[in-house]
Amino acid sequence: MALRNIRIAGDRVLEKTCRPVKEMTPKVENLINDMLETMYDAGGVGLAAPQVGILKRIVVIDVDFEEPHPYIMINPEILEVSEETQTGDEGCLSLPGQSGTVTRPMRVKARALDRNMEPYEIEGEGLLARAICHELDHLDGILYMTKVEGELREAGASEEEFAQ
Ligand code: ZN
Repeated sequence: MALRNIRIAGDRVLEKTCRPVKEMTPKVENLINDMLETMYDAGGVGLAAPQVGILKRIVVIDVDFEEPHPYIMINPEILEVSEETQTGDEGCLSLPGQSGTVTRPMRVKARALDRNMEPYEIEGEGLLARAICHELDHLDGILYMTKVEGELREAGASEEEFAQ
Protein backbone atom coordinates (compact mmCIF):
# COMPACT_ATOMS: atom_id res chain seq x y z
CA MET A 1 0.00 0.00 0.00
CA ALA A 2 1.06 3.55 -0.52
CA LEU A 3 -0.16 7.01 0.19
CA ARG A 4 -1.37 8.89 -2.86
CA ASN A 5 -1.30 12.62 -3.39
CA ILE A 6 -4.64 14.27 -2.75
CA ARG A 7 -5.61 16.62 -5.56
CA ILE A 8 -6.54 20.11 -4.52
CA ALA A 9 -9.47 22.19 -5.85
CA GLY A 10 -8.46 23.90 -9.06
CA ASP A 11 -7.06 20.63 -10.42
CA ARG A 12 -9.25 19.86 -13.43
CA VAL A 13 -9.32 16.15 -12.63
CA LEU A 14 -11.75 17.02 -9.83
CA GLU A 15 -14.22 18.48 -12.33
CA LYS A 16 -14.51 15.45 -14.58
CA THR A 17 -17.09 12.67 -14.69
CA CYS A 18 -15.65 9.31 -13.67
CA ARG A 19 -16.05 6.07 -15.59
CA PRO A 20 -17.59 2.89 -14.16
CA VAL A 21 -15.32 0.05 -13.09
CA LYS A 22 -15.83 -2.93 -15.38
CA GLU A 23 -13.86 -5.58 -13.51
CA MET A 24 -11.70 -6.05 -10.47
CA THR A 25 -8.03 -6.12 -11.37
CA PRO A 26 -4.87 -6.02 -9.26
CA LYS A 27 -4.57 -2.37 -10.24
CA VAL A 28 -8.06 -1.51 -8.97
CA GLU A 29 -7.48 -3.58 -5.82
CA ASN A 30 -4.29 -1.63 -5.24
CA LEU A 31 -6.06 1.67 -5.82
CA ILE A 32 -8.72 0.80 -3.21
CA ASN A 33 -6.07 -0.14 -0.63
CA ASP A 34 -4.18 3.08 -1.32
CA MET A 35 -7.37 5.14 -1.07
CA LEU A 36 -8.15 3.65 2.35
CA GLU A 37 -4.63 4.32 3.58
CA THR A 38 -4.69 7.85 2.19
CA MET A 39 -8.09 8.60 3.76
CA TYR A 40 -7.02 7.34 7.20
CA ASP A 41 -3.69 9.16 6.98
CA ALA A 42 -5.46 12.43 6.13
CA GLY A 43 -8.01 11.95 8.92
CA GLY A 44 -10.92 12.07 6.48
CA VAL A 45 -14.24 10.24 6.63
CA GLY A 46 -14.34 9.62 2.88
CA LEU A 47 -12.30 9.76 -0.29
CA ALA A 48 -13.22 9.46 -3.96
CA ALA A 49 -10.91 8.13 -6.68
CA PRO A 50 -10.73 11.47 -8.58
CA GLN A 51 -9.28 13.01 -5.41
CA VAL A 52 -6.20 10.87 -6.05
CA GLY A 53 -6.31 11.62 -9.76
CA ILE A 54 -8.08 8.47 -10.98
CA LEU A 55 -11.28 8.90 -12.99
CA LYS A 56 -13.02 5.75 -11.79
CA ARG A 57 -16.31 5.43 -9.92
CA ILE A 58 -14.85 4.28 -6.60
CA VAL A 59 -15.28 5.83 -3.16
CA VAL A 60 -14.22 4.77 0.31
CA ILE A 61 -16.00 5.96 3.43
CA ASP A 62 -15.45 5.38 7.14
CA VAL A 63 -17.45 7.37 9.66
CA ASP A 64 -16.68 5.08 12.61
CA PHE A 65 -14.28 6.83 14.94
CA GLU A 66 -13.98 3.92 17.36
CA GLU A 67 -12.57 1.30 15.05
CA PRO A 68 -12.06 0.88 11.30
CA HIS A 69 -15.34 0.21 9.53
CA PRO A 70 -14.74 1.08 5.90
CA TYR A 71 -17.31 1.02 3.15
CA ILE A 72 -15.95 0.44 -0.32
CA MET A 73 -18.38 1.60 -2.97
CA ILE A 74 -17.72 0.77 -6.61
CA ASN A 75 -20.09 2.19 -9.24
CA PRO A 76 -22.36 3.54 -6.49
CA GLU A 77 -25.86 4.82 -7.15
CA ILE A 78 -28.29 6.56 -4.87
CA LEU A 79 -31.62 4.73 -4.77
CA GLU A 80 -33.59 6.86 -2.31
CA VAL A 81 -33.15 10.02 -0.30
CA SER A 82 -35.28 11.14 2.62
CA GLU A 83 -37.35 14.27 2.42
CA GLU A 84 -35.98 15.17 5.81
CA THR A 85 -32.73 17.09 5.45
CA GLN A 86 -29.73 17.95 7.62
CA THR A 87 -27.93 21.26 7.48
CA GLY A 88 -24.42 21.17 8.84
CA ASP A 89 -20.76 21.83 8.31
CA GLU A 90 -18.78 19.90 5.79
CA GLY A 91 -15.15 19.80 4.76
CA CYS A 92 -13.28 18.28 1.85
CA LEU A 93 -9.77 16.84 1.68
CA SER A 94 -9.42 18.66 -1.65
CA LEU A 95 -10.12 22.01 0.04
CA PRO A 96 -7.87 21.71 3.07
CA GLY A 97 -8.42 24.07 5.95
CA GLN A 98 -11.88 25.15 4.83
CA SER A 99 -15.42 24.26 5.72
CA GLY A 100 -18.89 25.33 4.79
CA THR A 101 -22.54 24.71 5.54
CA VAL A 102 -24.31 22.27 3.23
CA THR A 103 -27.82 20.83 3.35
CA ARG A 104 -28.03 17.12 2.55
CA PRO A 105 -30.69 14.44 2.95
CA MET A 106 -30.89 13.02 6.47
CA ARG A 107 -31.08 9.47 5.13
CA VAL A 108 -29.81 7.93 1.93
CA LYS A 109 -30.19 4.46 0.47
CA ALA A 110 -27.56 3.50 -2.08
CA ARG A 111 -26.40 0.52 -4.07
CA ALA A 112 -22.80 -0.29 -4.96
CA LEU A 113 -20.41 -3.13 -5.67
CA ASP A 114 -18.01 -4.27 -2.98
CA ARG A 115 -14.36 -5.13 -3.60
CA ASN A 116 -15.44 -8.57 -4.90
CA MET A 117 -17.72 -6.79 -7.38
CA GLU A 118 -20.75 -8.13 -5.47
CA PRO A 119 -23.72 -5.76 -5.25
CA TYR A 120 -24.93 -4.58 -1.86
CA GLU A 121 -27.20 -1.90 -0.48
CA ILE A 122 -26.35 0.57 2.21
CA GLU A 123 -28.60 2.82 4.24
CA GLY A 124 -26.92 5.78 5.82
CA GLU A 125 -28.17 8.34 8.27
CA GLY A 126 -26.62 11.56 9.52
CA LEU A 127 -22.89 11.74 8.82
CA LEU A 128 -22.90 8.54 6.75
CA ALA A 129 -25.67 9.93 4.51
CA ARG A 130 -23.71 13.18 4.20
CA ALA A 131 -20.53 11.31 3.30
CA ILE A 132 -22.27 9.18 0.67
CA CYS A 133 -23.71 12.30 -1.00
CA HIS A 134 -20.41 14.20 -0.82
CA GLU A 135 -18.35 11.32 -2.25
CA LEU A 136 -20.81 10.46 -5.01
CA ASP A 137 -20.79 14.11 -6.07
CA HIS A 138 -17.02 13.81 -6.55
CA LEU A 139 -17.60 11.05 -9.13
CA ASP A 140 -19.56 13.54 -11.22
CA GLY A 141 -17.03 16.33 -10.84
CA ILE A 142 -19.06 18.22 -8.25
CA LEU A 143 -17.27 19.86 -5.33
CA TYR A 144 -19.16 20.71 -2.17
CA MET A 145 -18.19 24.37 -2.45
CA THR A 146 -20.77 24.68 -5.23
CA LYS A 147 -23.42 23.70 -2.65
CA VAL A 148 -22.24 25.74 0.29
CA GLU A 149 -24.78 28.09 1.83
CA GLY A 150 -23.04 31.36 2.48
CA GLU A 151 -19.26 31.54 2.54
CA LEU A 152 -16.53 28.99 2.91
CA ARG A 153 -14.86 29.48 6.28
CA GLU A 154 -11.60 28.56 7.81
CA ALA A 155 -11.94 25.11 9.32
CA GLY A 156 -11.87 24.68 13.05
CA ALA A 157 -15.05 26.51 14.00
CA SER A 158 -17.11 23.37 14.38
CA GLU A 159 -16.56 19.80 15.45
CA GLU A 160 -18.80 18.51 12.67
CA GLU A 161 -16.76 19.55 9.69
CA PHE A 162 -15.20 16.19 8.87
CA ALA A 163 -13.19 16.35 5.68
CA GLN A 164 -14.03 13.89 2.94
ZN1 ZN B 1 -14.50 15.95 -0.87
